[in-house]
Amino acid sequence: MALVLPTKPEGLAFFLDVDGTLIDIAPTPGGVVVPAALPADLRRLADRAEGALALVSGRDVATIDRLFAPETFTAAGVHGSEYRLPGGERVRLPVPAALPEIKRELEAFVAGRPGLLLEDKGHALALHYRLAPERADEVAGVMERVVRLGADELALQPGKMVVEMRPRHASKAGALLRLMASPPFAGRMPVAVGDDLTDETMLMAARDMGGLAIGVGGGISRPSERERAQLADPDAVRDWIARLAGRA
Ligand SMILES: [Mg+2]
Repeated sequence: MALVLPTKPEGLAFFLDVDGTLIDIAPTPGGVVVPAALPADLRRLADRAEGALALVSGRDVATIDRLFAPETFTAAGVHGSEYRLPGGERVRLPVPAALPEIKRELEAFVAGRPGLLLEDKGHALALHYRLAPERADEVAGVMERVVRLGADELALQPGKMVVEMRPRHASKAGALLRLMASPPFAGRMPVAVGDDLTDETMLMAARDMGGLAIGVGGGISRPSERERAQLADPDAVRDWIARLAGRA
């Protein structure tokens, strides 16, 4: 089913993934480039939507801020583990107790395997293998083993060239629902945009609320495949945002 992209921001609430959606994926998480016009376009769009725009990312909020400086936005970081709420208040879910022990195990695993990158996000650990794709099975295996150390608290979150361990009760859908419960989001129609498996719950939550799910790119099969609009790549997302923001 082809669904139509919105052309005006009035009445809408935007939930935007960052990597692979707003910005292009780079070989390493630190290597991404934020196009110069993007922070100001997002600000303009947020203003036109009366503040109902949130960045919803696997990255932590401090890193999101650094990427989009000097602008700051309502944000949900580490898959909904930490927030900057619309009034500016910062909220963090508890950090899973098993993470330090798991981190030590993964550091030892990574030490003998060039090309793997362990990212500590505070609430989550991400093991990237973009520079060593032949290690995909090994990475999946070690993550499945160590996640059991925190079985009640942690869940695996596979993504593009990465396997992550995040708090079991955090999700991007949870972030959308939490933000939609209060102003300026409440009462608007949610529009969720994302490119990866971690975005699926958020896209479906938006749709379940009568909103719109927008997928970016292709190449992975998604549960929401048949009931969403589609943008080809981050470049197309940025063009759409510029138009919604009234710039292009
Ligand atoms: Mg993404």
